[in-house]
Amino acid sequence: MFSFLKQRRRRRLRARDFPLEWRSIIGRNFSMFRRLPPEDQTELLGHVRVFLDEKRFEGCGGLEITDEIRVTIAAQACMLLLHRKTDYFPQLVTILVYPSRYVANEKRHLEGNIWEEGSEYRLGQTGRQLGSLVLAWEDVRRGALDSSGGRNVALHEFAHQLDYEDFQTDGAPALATRSDYQAWARVMNREFKALRAADEAGTSTVLDPYGATNPAEFFAVVTEAFFERPRALRARHPELYDQFARFFRQDPIRYSAEPAAT
Ligand SMILES: [Zn+2]
Repeated sequence: MFSFLKQRRRRRLRARDFPLEWRSIIGRNFSMFRRLPPEDQTELLGHVRVFLDEKRFEGCGGLEITDEIRVTIAAQACMLLLHRKTDYFPQLVTILVYPSRYVANEKRHLEGNIWEEGSEYRLGQTGRQLGSLVLAWEDVRRGALDSSGGRNVALHEFAHQLDYEDFQTDGAPALATRSDYQAWARVMNREFKALRAADEAGTSTVLDPYGATNPAEFFAVVTEAFFERPRALRARHPELYDQFARFFRQDPIRYSAEPAAT
């Protein structure tokens, strides 16, 4: 019953006229949006409506949350939802936004009762238990403006949220069938090992070496490349591209700003 009401509320939100001011923010700030086919633009704006209705934003480090910040983040997050049956990042409640890269203090468990404590600069982070996701606005904005740089912190962090949809953080999002999982696992394992080997050998690839950290980071890093450098990804990792195209039900080559290979 609750789910029925939720679906109905979401349908109504998607059907409403989209505020012109928000539409022009997305057109201005999110270059990938301008290249999308009109039907995808309409679908994306509907998702943005629902997203903004359901998620809370909090400014950190003195940042005041504006419509520009909310709408620019929501539009990028909702790229990951196009064409798919979606529950709108169900684990996510709050998006915390810092003005620029921020210092995160963290304790890392080394072994036994040894903890390493330190601080490092971060652009974003998310965690399943927290129900929150953290972003640095300056980097989010830059990533949205240049959609062919290969790096996009918003797509990266929201990809982690997709990975949590099936309640496991393992680099495998919720897939439809058992054979989908098998094909996914086969390609992902092989490509993850290849990235680890390239990272150790110091060879550069189309994928950010940070993806060699673990399978969850690998999924997030490949998602960034899939949307931002789809031609290079398909040319060098065709099976990986194919798995992501099936999962996301998208072919970003059609609307990528990445220059065609010469
Ligand atoms: Zn990550």
